[in-house]
Amino acid sequence: MTQAEGDAMGLSPVQIQALLFAAYTRSDVATVGNFAGAIGTTHVTAVKIINGLVRKGLVSKAQKPEDRRVTLLNLTPEGKVIVSQLNHWGHSLEEALGSIPDEALADFEIGLSAIISAMQQRGQLVVAEPCLGCMHFQPNTGEAVTPHFCGLIQQYLTHEASLQECPEHTPIEV
Ligand code: SF4
Repeated sequence: MTQAEGDAMGLSPVQIQALLFAAYTRSDVATVGNFAGAIGTTHVTAVKIINGLVRKGLVSKAQKPEDRRVTLLNLTPEGKVIVSQLNHWGHSLEEALGSIPDEALADFEIGLSAIISAMQQRGQLVVAEPCLGCMHFQPNTGEAVTPHFCGLIQQYLTHEASLQECPEHTPIEV
């Protein structure tokens, strides 16, 4: 389904995942390595996917100033236009699920959460999330421009940065 929807835009599903990763991941952790982790592939494969998007003019690469071995990903203006058109990506699957009773979907969600959690614990899956709910998040402890603090990277964050996805999000134990 996602292949058919991607074909209409001239993109593969994994290329669309890469564009969404670049769009919604905090800029200082939107790296090729973290993208590889996010989709569960090797660094080499991730580089090939990204290079395809660079050739299409949708993504640009830059070395991280603090560590030149790390490559950061950014959307180009053309890439941002494509991402703005992806609001309905995946609608075919949503429509198919629409006929399933809520109770069955709720059971499915519980099962799926258990699988994701087990894979996360085994290091087989990275689930990036915004700061809220992360054990390292210390909200409203800074100043107006950078109100929040991350205990993991020991840095203050803007509110906008805290709303972006972080692959190091560690859920608070309940
Ligand atoms: S580790 Fe947690 S608090 Fe720090 S940036 Fe990532 S999500 Fe936010």
